[in-house]
Amino acid sequence: MAEARIIDGKAIAAELRRRVGEAANRLRAAHNLLPGLATILVGDDPPSLRYVRAKGAASTAAGFASFDRRLPGDTAETTLSDEIARLNADDRIDGILVQLPLPAQIDAPRVMAAIAPEKDVDGFHPVNIGRLWSGVAGLVPCTPQGCMMLLRSAQTDLAGAEAVVFGRSNIVGRPLAALLLAANCTVTLAHSLTRNAPEVARRADILVAAVGRPQLVGADWVKPGAVVIDAGINGLSRPDGSSRLVGDVDFAAVREVAGAITPVPGGVGPMTIAMLLHNTLQAARARSGHS
Ligand code: NAP
Repeated sequence: MAEARIIDGKAIAAELRRRVGEAANRLRAAHNLLPGLATILVGDDPPSLRYVRAKGAASTAAGFASFDRRLPGDTAETTLSDEIARLNADDRIDGILVQLPLPAQIDAPRVMAAIAPEKDVDGFHPVNIGRLWSGVAGLVPCTPQGCMMLLRSAQTDLAGAEAVVFGRSNIVGRPLAALLLAANCTVTLAHSLTRNAPEVARRADILVAAVGRPQLVGADWVKPGAVVIDAGINGLSRPDGSSRLVGDVDFAAVREVAGAITPVPGGVGPMTIAMLLHNTLQAARARSGHS
C-alpha cells in the first residue's frame, strides 16, 4: 500500500489566518471595526508564556487589537474574576482567553463560566459546550475545530464514517466527539480505561489521538486507509539529552498503513491559534451584527 498522504496543517492554518486577516480588513474598511482579543496569563509558567505571546502576535498580525493582561501566580480567584468582569464590559474586546492551566488556588471551571459566552473564544463556557452538544451555533473550542478542518481536507464525506477519538478531555476529545457526531460520523470516545484499545482503534475510518502519550498509537491500531489525526504534543528525550516533539501516534510506522495522517509538528498544532483568530472574528461579527 502507498504511504499515507500528509495533511499539511501548517499550510492549512496559514491559509485560514490569511482569510481571517482579509475579513478583518473588510470589517475595518466597511464598519471601522477592529476585532479585539484579550489574553490573561496568571503566573509565569514558561510554556504558557510562549503560548500567550504567540496568540498575541498572531492576533496583531491578523490586524486585530490585542490586550495582554498578566497577573502574578498568587492571584486570588476574585481578582481574576474582577479582571474578567472588566473585559466582559469592555466594548473594544470581542474575545477573552484565560490561559490554562491556572494555579491551584483558582477554580478553572468557575473562571471559564465567568467569561461572557459571546466573548468565550476558547469555547469552554458551559453555555457554549451545551450549544455544541445540542447542535446550536456557538463558539467551538479551537483545537477540535482545527482537527475537523484538517479532517475535511482529507475526507469530505464524513456521514456514516466510524470515528474513534482517544482522549476525553474537555479541551480536545469531548468537543471533537460532538463535532464528529454533528458531521454524522458514528463516534466512539475512548479513554484510559477502554479495553482492547488497538482493536477499538482498528474500527476507525477516522482515528484521532488526543491522549498526551508519546507514540501510543502504533501501526497495529490503524485500519488500512484510515485518516489519522494526531493532536498530541509531547517532548521525547534523545540519548544526547536534547528533546524533540512527537505526537501520540508513531508517525513513521502509521504512515505506512493510513490513508492520510497529520504530522507532529506541523499538523494540528498550527490550527489552534488560527482557529482562535477565526473564533475572535466570529465573536466580533456576532457582537457587532456586521458580517
Ligand atoms: P488530558 O486532559 O491529559 O487528557 C488525556 C486523555 O487521554 C484522557 O481522557 C485520558 O483518559 C486519555 N488517556 C490517557 N492515557 C491513555 C491511554 N493509554 N489510552 C487511552 N486513553 C488515554 O490531555 P489533553 O489536554 O486532551 O491533551 C491531549 C494531547 O493533546 C496532549 O499531548 C496535549 O499536549 C495535546 N494538545 C494539543 C493541542 C494543540 O494545540 N495541538 C491543544 C491541546 C492539547 P482518562 O480520561 O480516562 O484519564
